[in-house]
This record gives sequence, C-alpha cells and structure tokens, in this order.
Amino acid sequence: MANEKNRVIIFDTTMRDGEQSPGASMSLEEKIQISRIFDELGVDIIEAGFPIASPGDYEAVKEISKILKNSIPCGLSRHTKKDIDACHEALKAAPRFRIHTFISTSPLHMKHKLNKSPEQVIESIKEHVTYARKFTDDIEWSFEDGTRTDMDFMCKTVELAINCGAKTINIPDTVGYSVPSEFKKIIETLINKVPNIDKAILSTHCHNDLGLAVANSLAGVSAGARQIECTINGIGERAGNAALEEIVMAIKTRNDLMPFKTGINTELLSKASKVVSNATGFPVQFNKAIVGKNAFAHESGIHQDGMLKHKNTYEIMTPESVGVKQTSLVMGKHSGRHAFKEKLNDLGYMGITDDIIQIAFGKFKVLADKKKHVYDEDIAALVDDSLIKEDNVINLKSLKVFAGTGEPQRADMTLEVYGEVKKATETGDGPVDAIFKCVKKLYSHDVNLKLYQVHAVTEGTDAQATVSVRIEENGKTTVGQAADTDTLVASANAYLNALNKMIIKRKRTSPEEYEQQKMKGI
Ligand code: MN
Repeated sequence: MANEKNRVIIFDTTMRDGEQSPGASMSLEEKIQISRIFDELGVDIIEAGFPIASPGDYEAVKEISKILKNSIPCGLSRHTKKDIDACHEALKAAPRFRIHTFISTSPLHMKHKLNKSPEQVIESIKEHVTYARKFTDDIEWSFEDGTRTDMDFMCKTVELAINCGAKTINIPDTVGYSVPSEFKKIIETLINKVPNIDKAILSTHCHNDLGLAVANSLAGVSAGARQIECTINGIGERAGNAALEEIVMAIKTRNDLMPFKTGINTELLSKASKVVSNATGFPVQFNKAIVGKNAFAHESGIHQDGMLKHKNTYEIMTPESVGVKQTSLVMGKHSGRHAFKEKLNDLGYMGITDDIIQIAFGKFKVLADKKKHVYDEDIAALVDDSLIKEDNVINLKSLKVFAGTGEPQRADMTLEVYGEVKKATETGDGPVDAIFKCVKKLYSHDVNLKLYQVHAVTEGTDAQATVSVRIEENGKTTVGQAADTDTLVASANAYLNALNKMIIKRKRTSPEEYEQQKMKGI
C-alpha cells in the first residue's frame, strides 16, 4: 500500500491519543467493537493503546491484535526496553504489527521533562530503535514536541532513527502550536536535508489547540508526508487531534487540488463517528464538519429552494457519501429475523455474534409493539444497547416509578446482584434520584455522578431515549449508556451499565497503575 506515490496512509489513534481525552475511557468490549469498524472502514494502522501504561491497555492491544483482518495493529512505547517488550508481547499475535516508539527532542522537553542532554537523546535513539527493530521491520519513531525542536538537531535524529531501522518518521505537533506554512516547511526541510529520507515515510500528528490540526496535516501531505495520524471525531488530548473524517473528505472532495488517495470507505464514516461517540460518551457537536447532526441540513429558505432545483447549488458532497441515509421507515412488527439481520448489515454492524442478534431482535419485537414507527436509528440504539451489556454483574429485573406533582417521587426496584435477587424502595428528589438511590441501597458503592444526559433517538413523543451516565471513583471514570422508550428505565440501565464497567475496571487497574497511566505521552 505504501508503494503508490500518492497513497496517504491513515493511522488512527482514537484508542490511544483519543482515549487520553479527560473522561473518554473505553472498555475492552467497546474497543473491540471500534476496531472491527475501523477494520472495515479501511484504516491502515490502528494504534490500539500504550501497553506498558496499564493492564487494561495491554489487554486491549492484545485482543485487538487477534481480530484485525486488514488493518495493522500498533502499540506505543517510550524509549525503554520494558515498554518495547510490552508492545511486542501485546502485538505478537498479529501477522503484521507496528511498534511506535518516541522520545522528546525539543530543548524544553529534553531539559525539563527528560532531564537528558541532546547527546543522551541521540544515544537513546540508537539503543531503542535498534532494540525495537529486533521484533519487527515496521518501526515508527516519533520525536515528541517536534514542531518546537531545533531543525538541525531534528535532521540529525531523523537520519539516525532511519539508519537504526525506523520505516516511518512521525512529526508530532504535540502542543498544537504550528500553522500550515510552518508545518509544511518542517516536512520540506526534512526531505531536503536528511540524506536517507527516501527510506522512510513521513507522518503528521497534529493537535487542534488552535483549530489547525486538519489544515496542518494536509499541509504536511502536500509537502511530501504520506501518513496522517488522526482520530474519529477529532478526539484526543486537550482540544483533540486532527479529525479522520475531515481529512479523508477534504482529500476526496478537493482531489483537484490534493491529488491523493486514502483507503477509507467513506460510507462508514458516519457509523464510526456514532460508535466512538457512544463509547466515549462525548456527544458530537451539531455543526461538526462531516459527522455533525447539521452537517447536511439546510435550514434557510433560499438554500432549501436552491437544493430543490439542483443539489450542487449548496452541497459539495452528498450525505450518502459519508453514510448518512435519509431517515427511513424500515421495519415493523411483522419483520422477521432474517430481514432484521440484513438491516444490521446495512447499518454497518459487522461481526456481531448470533447471541447479540437474538437479544437485539427480541428487543426490536418489544419496541415494534410499543412504537408506531421503527427507524434505522432505533435499531442502531437497540444493538448498541445489547452490545454494551455483555459482562454485567448487576442487572435490572424490574422497576416501578411513581412520579408527578405533589407526592414525593418513589422508585421500587428489583436487581440481580451477582446472581442474587434483591428489592428496594426509595424516595428521592425526582424520579431519577429515587432510582439511583435504589441502586445504591442494593449495591453499596461510592461514586460521583459526573454527567446525566438524555437524547431522543428519533423525533416524536414515542421516540426511544438514549441516556448517558458518567461516574467517577478515585479518579477513574466510566460511561454507561442505555436506550428505551421509557426514559426512566433507560436511566436505570445507563447507571447500572456505568457501574458494571466500573466494577470491571476496578479489577483491571490498581491505584499505582492509574498513576502510571497519567504519564501517557505524546
Ligand atoms: Mn498526541
């Protein structure tokens, strides 16, 4: 794939840099679901995590490495043998894998972060790139804080890393400080001054602190870079990374000015965006380019009139090209299991087990009885809901809520907690408060509720509600989600989902490991 001159490699770091967004932690199950979609989407390299950072990261990289069919898994490592060993261990199940190793090269980072002299950094590159090269010939080397690095020193380190076996050289704008003209110049300088540069592919890794991540990445490509590191929905540290969907659609739509190719199947972009948004609990802003709810909506009369006469008047790309379909009335209570399965394929759900299909189909039948119209969005919500409940140790058996004016609101709840059925009744400041108090009574725990959010899946008063709940315990957060036509049932299930994930997370990460996670890099 890398041989074609104008082919741009898409390196996705949603599960590594993206997961470093405060509050964006994803469970193993969610990461596997995301990986399957990325594999179909045509992502070339999937940076699945930072294996040394925590057992959770290690496990995720390991499991993802086993299931990818097309994409190449990659793990991040600092310049230590322990990090590189952990990467190799986690990745080795894959037929092909990449080790990504990095060190800081800016004067500021070398002095204050690493406490190393430039000579020591040079030695470290020699030692660790060479070491990583023993495990695979697919080595990527990054110099952290690249855009604030002295150019001569940068050229020297890049030449050395290539000599030690790095095939990809990544230029991170770690702090999102660069602008397109400057970023272009950095790439051009490397191409002009590093004698062995033809033996490596140059890569961009741009942060969006000034809203320039996509522009900088594209400037890098026009100067000769052939890999872009990016994330779905642009999630990532602080203001995030370059958004994959924006980069891919900019190249596709303005191919007259940017004659490059990616391997991305753009019709899955919308789906990938939704899955990542659900897993992280980060809503996509309405006016977000490509995947925002309003990205293809025309409100003003003049625009609507123009659109009716000729689509191209105000449309530079079609909604279908990114997988946005007209909301369609698709299924009813008489639809069978086979049609349901076909529908899931149409909606981009691949590799779902028969068990999950069976559960989702059962829910679909119940929903079709309750709700007049069942839309694509409803079915997607049902499946997502079924997918996230696989490992629950606490399950809702029944819920009755008494709400309204006058009386204090009350909830009667039955839960199954580790196989044992328990009942409770609580009153609260509103029905949701009463529900959450019941859960607390039946399974004693001490978490902070950080977010409670309700979205209607479709229009209409009989629409399903998707509820997102984020909870925090000792600095760790989890996000739970659930969908139901009854907002209160969805609320209970979303809270339980977050709690179940927290229980799994407690097992995976010790406080010391959590401290280690904070050291996450570039
Ligand atoms: Mn980064």
